[in-house]
Amino acid sequence: MTESNHSEKYQFQAEMKQLLNLIIHSLYSHKEVFLRELVSNASDALNKVRFLKLTKPDILNPDDELAIKINVNFDENTFSIEDSGIGMSHDDLINQIGNIASSGTLKFLNELKEKNKSFDGNLIGQFGVGFYSVFMVTDEVTLETRLADSTSHGLQWISTGEDTYIINEIDKPSKGTKISFKFKEELKHFADVSEIKQILQKYSNFVDFPIYVNDEKVNVVQAVWQKKKDSLTDEEMNEFYKFISNDFEEPMGHLHLAIEGNVNFKALLFIPKTAPQFLFQEIKEKTLHLYTNKIFIQDDAKELLPDYLHFVKGVVDTEDLPLNVSREITQNSPVMAKINTVLTSKILDYLENLASEDKEKYETFYRNFGSLLKSGVNTDFKNREKIIELMRFESSKTEAGNYTSFNSYVSSMRAEQEEIFYLAGDSREKIERNPNLEYFIKNDIEVLFMIDPMDVFVIPYIFDYSGKKILSIEKAEIKLEESSSEEKTEDNQNSFSLIEKFKSVVGEQVEDIVFSKRLVNYPVSLVAGKSSMDPQYEKMMQMLNKDFQSSKKILEINPVHPIIKNLISNLNNTEHSEEVEDTIHQLYESALLIDGGLTNPTDFVQRLYKIIEKMTK
Ligand code: ADP
Repeated sequence: MTESNHSEKYQFQAEMKQLLNLIIHSLYSHKEVFLRELVSNASDALNKVRFLKLTKPDILNPDDELAIKINVNFDENTFSIEDSGIGMSHDDLINQIGNIASSGTLKFLNELKEKNKSFDGNLIGQFGVGFYSVFMVTDEVTLETRLADSTSHGLQWISTGEDTYIINEIDKPSKGTKISFKFKEELKHFADVSEIKQILQKYSNFVDFPIYVNDEKVNVVQAVWQKKKDSLTDEEMNEFYKFISNDFEEPMGHLHLAIEGNVNFKALLFIPKTAPQFLFQEIKEKTLHLYTNKIFIQDDAKELLPDYLHFVKGVVDTEDLPLNVSREITQNSPVMAKINTVLTSKILDYLENLASEDKEKYETFYRNFGSLLKSGVNTDFKNREKIIELMRFESSKTEAGNYTSFNSYVSSMRAEQEEIFYLAGDSREKIERNPNLEYFIKNDIEVLFMIDPMDVFVIPYIFDYSGKKILSIEKAEIKLEESSSEEKTEDNQNSFSLIEKFKSVVGEQVEDIVFSKRLVNYPVSLVAGKSSMDPQYEKMMQMLNKDFQSSKKILEINPVHPIIKNLISNLNNTEHSEEVEDTIHQLYESALLIDGGLTNPTDFVQRLYKIIEKMTK
């Protein structure tokens, strides 16, 4: 019996209160997932103790069956779930149970609520707050726990999920955790053996510990990935995916591998249908589950895949690692490195195949995970070429949202074109309005649009594809043909004087001032200087680091534009010298404005007023 020795009351942290409030008042559908979450926590705790047993023989009751025991009583409307797992310490109760693991969680939950999406309880497992789903179905929870360590003592945690929780010391002879409560009156139907069995069937079919409901064993422990390919049904596979990934959707695709030879393992890998909210953050957390000989080792075996493939979920089971493998060993193991090499090449082959066989499906995949995938160009030198083939872009010749690739760019360009052109920007809309694009549109030369922020960190390091240099059209160095003789740069004395005039007015602020061959309808434009990085890259760096020094740009002037022609004819007219200077300032600053670099618009606007005033006289 539990006898209370010492009792303490704690406040939930503010975010936790908010979260509990959301759970209690906003989660309506799929209330039955509370069971999945509790079983999954119990299973994690059992996995941990199974692993601990391999290295520490002196744990509490080492011979107890590693199992999950559920008891329900319909008449009394009660439920309990008990595991013989690792248990929790006093600190765990405060830090693991009383706190929210990720700060993104609450933000996302609130967003969902604001958008008034019917907030589905099914989503909760993804957020690392699964335990609290019990408050969907009950008004008060009692948790009793004892750490597997033989020097530990029992603890009891009680809360109504409102503001506070209580921790008591109790007598608890066995290791593990027991959670018990009464269902809310209107949810009494859960306190029924057959209903509980049904829910387990739906969500917890793949738990690899026995589950008992009122002393009857209800599951068959099985390692799906060990099955032969043709004996595994799609349904089984999808359910398994949902089980290990906490996703509520079916996967987009899967790979089932049985590798023998240099390294031996079986793997069942999945590509999710949609990307998580915080792709780059999420991939750092959970990755593949590692088993050795069907025994679970860890659920975040990062070494099994390179970072850029961490969107892949699934299981790897190998005979080549010892059972008592520690985290340090897995981190430096040549076996892990070999598995990584095989998996990487299999996944890239799979994607390549998908791209050629089901273009639409591949493009959906790429929209979801492309930015992560392409980061591999900079890190995986062995597979670089393959990743480059897998990259997709919008371009000046695709509809918005449609893709082309380097391969199709090169195969449809004119034979005499020597370079692959691109332009980077925040959005297709902005890119399409970039004055530097005019020449290319007019001459029917395709330009790839780099819209994904990751692009500017990757593209400059590709250098060339199929012998063609990859160049930003914002770079001054690209060679452009003059379109027709009538538009030739006027090389008379006046136009050179105009350049000199521009230099005397805004010369300090730019690297150089030259006549342009690329402009059509715009009078001036800024392009990147010879030694500078891609302008979009510089913008990103500035956002990341305030002290980042952007390089000076080159100002290009369109000699056939009416404004420039007017300037040339007025250049020697001293009566107009103030207007000429104002116009040069105004032109330069409008180029800056379009480029996103006009930090102080006051002078620009004052000059504009002056012009409007004249016009409205
Ligand atoms: P998650 O399981 O996603 O981390 P939960 O809110 O379900 O989020 O659980 C929080 C933490 O509490 C777990 O990570 C684990 O450390 C601890 N925990 C929950 N249930 C148990 C249990 N039955 N045995 C041991 N530890 C548990």
